[in-house]
Amino acid sequence: MIDDHKDVSYDSRKGKYRAYIFVNKKRKYLGYFTDVEDAVQARKDAELEYGSHRTTSRMKDLSDMDFGDLKVIRLSDKRGANGTRLWECRCKCGEVIYVLGASLRAGYYKSCGCNREEKRDIGAREHEKTDRVDGTRKTALKAKLHKGNKSGHKGVRWNESRQKWTAHIGFKGKQISLGYFSEKEDAIKARKRAEEKYFDPILNSDTEYKG
Ligand SMILES: [Zn+2]
Repeated sequence: MIDDHKDVSYDSRKGKYRAYIFVNKKRKYLGYFTDVEDAVQARKDAELEYGSHRTTSRMKDLSDMDFGDLKVIRLSDKRGANGTRLWECRCKCGEVIYVLGASLRAGYYKSCGCNREEKRDIGAREHEKTDRVDGTRKTALKAKLHKGNKSGHKGVRWNESRQKWTAHIGFKGKQISLGYFSEKEDAIKARKRAEEKYFDPILNSDTEYKG
């Protein structure tokens, strides 16, 4: 440690300063620097990027902010893949998810993924009459991918806090969780099986779909 500069050391063999930061209890090196100030700056930048066990005040406070249907509750103790602390958010539907601040600010997340579209105009209501079969909207079953969906597959999402893929399916106004998966392919398969089970009987029903 150099003077008061945390996590900056002098490498006498190279004649340079070296900065590092602890991420998930592992030392991550940030490179060699000729100028000590550059090393200190690199350490400061890394602290912002990875979050610090010591200084949370440096992170932009997102508490109480709204991102679509999500309200930020607080900075949680859960951490994402690179050690950055995740924000606890509550969706309008009640589900709690943990998200990177950067992802929130970038607009990747607007809801927990429940993706409920509530159209209130008359046209939509009329459409709904012909569209609804046994309490389930056919168009909803055929709906395009949610904006925040980064998996490329409807109903399949990456869970940052668990570091696993999750699959779910919405049916008759309920979100049915299909479990957590290490492999994305398994989550996609689970979702596909659920579509066959829940959706196919409705999509193949006699009531004609008028899109
Ligand atoms: Zn939700």
